Amino acid sequence: FSSEELTQAFVDRIARFDGKLNSYITVTAEAALEQAREADRRIAGGEAGPLTGIPIAHKDIFCTRGVRTSCGSKMLDNFVAPYDATVVQRFKAAGAVMLGKTNMDEFAMGSSNETSFYGPVSNPWDLKAVPGGSSGGSAAAVAARLAAGATGTDTGGSIRQPAALCGITGLKPTYGRVSRYGMIAFASSLDQGGPMARTAEDCALLLSAMAGFDERDSTCVDREVPDYMAGLGNDLKGLRIGLPREYFGEGLDPEVSKVVEAAVEEYKRLGAEVKEVSLPNTNLAVPTYYVVAPAECSSNLSRFDGVRFGHRCEEPKDLEDLYKRSRGEGFGPEVKRRIMVGTYALSAGYYDAYYLKAQQLRRLIRDDFTRAFEEVDVLMGPTSPGVAFNIGEKADDPITMYLSDIYTIAANLAGLPGISIPAGFSGERPVGLQIIGNYFDEARLLNVAHQYQ
Ligand code: GLN
Repeated sequence: FSSEELTQAFVDRIARFDGKLNSYITVTAEAALEQAREADRRIAGGEAGPLTGIPIAHKDIFCTRGVRTSCGSKMLDNFVAPYDATVVQRFKAAGAVMLGKTNMDEFAMGSSNETSFYGPVSNPWDLKAVPGGSSGGSAAAVAARLAAGATGTDTGGSIRQPAALCGITGLKPTYGRVSRYGMIAFASSLDQGGPMARTAEDCALLLSAMAGFDERDSTCVDREVPDYMAGLGNDLKGLRIGLPREYFGEGLDPEVSKVVEAAVEEYKRLGAEVKEVSLPNTNLAVPTYYVVAPAECSSNLSRFDGVRFGHRCEEPKDLEDLYKRSRGEGFGPEVKRRIMVGTYALSAGYYDAYYLKAQQLRRLIRDDFTRAFEEVDVLMGPTSPGVAFNIGEKADDPITMYLSDIYTIAANLAGLPGISIPAGFSGERPVGLQIIGNYFDEARLLNVAHQYQ
């Protein structure tokens, strides 16, 4: 079949099911079909690559020229980016078709997609449940087959946790592997874009298109991109797996624990050696993150001032009134909370006590991983301490919500790659297995994931 037929099938499914899921903020059906016809011409002309004509969706944090990029916020509800993010551009160059832009927590701040200005997203496995966040729209769209694959971003777990809660595969690459140019910044030292798809194989294909040096992002690493497809079939004999003791303790849902332990048993059958390791500073990850991330967010989000782009209040009295009311009206409560915390942590007299201290703890967290990777090749554990919770269940309790990222955040603080793969179910809700690798070891993570699938 042609890309046009395939794209039409996805467009039809979106029209039929997304009224219930709310996984898309913007659907670009006409443009998608036009791109699909162009892809069909390329295929007919023998110029096709593996992604030519494949319909995917982009998290609405990636700037797309001529198409609204809202970042899940009222602040950017009217923002049409004048340029494409590097990731978007690379998918275009690969011939992929863009179906639309997916729903997300406002400015990627959240773990349930409930902070979106465009309303919550439902988990396709149970419409009462959240899909996770912040890339909840991408995860739900892929799980419900409303896109063949999607992009996400992960600052503290936002690719891996929604992948886990929706029963799909999501990879957060090493910091610097994928360009952040045109990806609206939340916390610049933690943010990283990555693929979300049904399988590790699909993620390998998507990552091949996304990864690589970009001179427009000074933190992007100039390092060769390996062939992520080539090693998927390697056997796992002798693979050294570490189970961090701290990832199986108090707070972990026993049903989730059982599914993860069964997955580890399967890896033993595949020839891996399993041993316990320790990441002793794990308990510092969430508090460290909730200083670093808000601090960086308060700085990044200062650009939304009602002057240059985004929401502007009606009839401002003067410049200060313009700033105050534009920001007051444009940002939702979670974003305001983060800006307040971050501004406080960075203020004169508090910097040393909070931000500097958090940077020191970040180093300790990273050293834990460095030591662990002297003994093992990958780390395994749960992606999230529980399965998808119900919409509204944790919405009034930020602390409980923050704790749902307890196993994912440390990899961001250390800059390490991590993947979440579907490992089974607790009741009717999916459970994710997280595999964390050493720097730039994405090919191994994909291989380890693929062998299980
Ligand atoms: N849930 C975390 C937060 O709210 C992580 C979000 C993310 O990775 N973008 O900050």
